[in-house]
Amino acid sequence: MNNEQQEQDVATVAADFAAALMQWRAVLGEEHVRTTDADLDRYARTCSSSARRALAVLRPASRDEVVALVRIARTFKTPLYPLSAGQNWGYGDACPVREGQVIVDLGRMNRIHTVDGELGYAVIEPGVTQRQLAEHLAEQGMPFWCDCTGSGPNSSLIGNIVERGFGHTPYGNRIQTISGLEVVLGSGEVLETGFGHYANARTTHVYPYGVGPFLDGLFTQSNFGIVTRLGLWLLPIPKSFCPFLVLFKEDEDLLAALPALRHLRLTRVLHSVPHIGNDLRALSSDGAFPRNALPERARLTPELRQQMRQAAGIGAWAMSGAFYGTRAQVWLHRRLLKQALRGVHAKVMFLPPWLLRLGRAAANFCNRLGLLPALDRKIRAAESLAGMHSGRPTGFFLRGAYWRKQGGWPSDLSDDTDLAGAGVGIMWMAPILPFRAEDLARLNQEMDTLFSSHGFDCHVTVNMINERALAAVYTIDYDAEDAMETARALECYEQGVARLYDLGYPLYRASTRGMSLLSPQGQDTFWQTVEHLKTALDPEGIIAPGRYQPGIFMGRDGAARSLG
Ligand SMILES: Cc1cc2nc3c(=O)[nH]c(=O)nc-3n(C[C@H](O)[C@H](O)[C@H](O)COP(=O)(O)OP(=O)(O)OC[C@H]3O[C@@H](n4cnc5c(N)ncnc54)[C@H](O)[C@@H]3O)c2cc1C
Repeated sequence: MNNEQQEQDVATVAADFAAALMQWRAVLGEEHVRTTDADLDRYARTCSSSARRALAVLRPASRDEVVALVRIARTFKTPLYPLSAGQNWGYGDACPVREGQVIVDLGRMNRIHTVDGELGYAVIEPGVTQRQLAEHLAEQGMPFWCDCTGSGPNSSLIGNIVERGFGHTPYGNRIQTISGLEVVLGSGEVLETGFGHYANARTTHVYPYGVGPFLDGLFTQSNFGIVTRLGLWLLPIPKSFCPFLVLFKEDEDLLAALPALRHLRLTRVLHSVPHIGNDLRALSSDGAFPRNALPERARLTPELRQQMRQAAGIGAWAMSGAFYGTRAQVWLHRRLLKQALRGVHAKVMFLPPWLLRLGRAAANFCNRLGLLPALDRKIRAAESLAGMHSGRPTGFFLRGAYWRKQGGWPSDLSDDTDLAGAGVGIMWMAPILPFRAEDLARLNQEMDTLFSSHGFDCHVTVNMINERALAAVYTIDYDAEDAMETARALECYEQGVARLYDLGYPLYRASTRGMSLLSPQGQDTFWQTVEHLKTALDPEGIIAPGRYQPGIFMGRDGAARSLG
């Protein structure tokens, strides 16, 4: 292509984009088409080194507006990148996967259309946040809780679900608790899944599969459409509820307990999504990396780590979860948990609501006398844990992201803090592994060696996502304000992802940075099929090019290319 032709092409693209903006403004109003530097910079903030500035931000208020703006985007071949609340922290934040995309921020579409108080489901739009649904259920006196993740009250439900994220209640494997999606396809058509496409179907939100191919999964971890509504099942509030903590002193103690825990999960004694975190996860919620003691390093020495564990009264691992049911069921499950762990070194603690109330009263009393500040912190952590397990989302766990930030978390850290703008650095690698001690031991060792070679502490959580699999999350916590450390973190991430595929533990979810690494063995039949579906459902490639579409990053030789 010669220079003249290139200039002409650039001019055409610019003219098309200007025309698209004009039409979007006509549909949404001037106020809801944002192009100022301040707006674009705000959406480009990142806590996972994935800053990518969009061309514009569109803020539709209804499904019909989404349809209109998709049609305009098709006409002018301008790619769109949908966001629900845009709090995909550690996985790419609110940033598109590639350059040259226009963000569709669905935050104004925040209606809760229905809550069925008999059958226990809500029909919600993408802008509905965890807090909004939780408060709505409480205000309406509904006998239901919504499942909560640890990512804070302002995270969305739909954005999390389309990423196949998970919470921690019995409805924590969220993808199994949705029924009936409304999706605006890249073609501009509106698809209703399950029974939703039958006029007057009364079963759309109670039976997800409908009749015929089951399509819901196609609209999670994909770029075929924009989900504008879905039915979400709600957890009946149990008569009795009891959070628990299990402390394991050493790595071996957790590994020894794993077969018994698996049995409890398989037999549904453990019926929520218990979460097991290593000592670093607990320490990072209680303070910052002791930079003064280790000025030259990003990793704790074994001695200091041991001292910090002892000071915090924790072991190498802690498991948290909750039991739900009648009083008799909860008592039985408590007993079965204790029995199952009898042969291993584990300290089991139950935190029923009455005990937490007592703890709170004691902490308040001590606070007034200026005594035992650690008690208040411990009770606060336990309250947050209990809240997350009982439909009350909390921002408490956001503080862990400040581990490597100079000065730790700010004194005004609130539930509303947007981590993307906080100057913290976190990248998650989240592989699935079989629920087996040998797999966990192997993976932990591999990851610790990798993190160590890059000078990082290896923060680990392991979640019992279902009866047979564990969803591990290896977190690179880094100082995003230190360029060298950030470069090391990126290298650690890319090597880590490659290693996970090599070892046979692929990720359950990719960050925007990881999209280019999804197909280490080239364009196999799976990803080719995904491309065929993309062509059928979004012929102009308008929706989120590159999102779970590794083919777009491949060189002519079919080899994966890094996002850089
Ligand atoms: C301390 C901490 C704790 C966390 N805990 C958890 C946890 O317990 N569980 C968990 O799963 N995650 C967790 N996260 C990760 C993340 O913050 C959450 O998953 C969060 O819910 C994602 O943000 P969001 O809901 O605003 O989704 P968004 O950022 O809005 O969406 C995520 C992605 O989905 C796509 N998308 C969004 N909406 C639509 C739509 N309507 N149609 C089509 N595509 C769409 C977009 O491409 C977007 O990039 C945690 C993060 C931190 C920092």
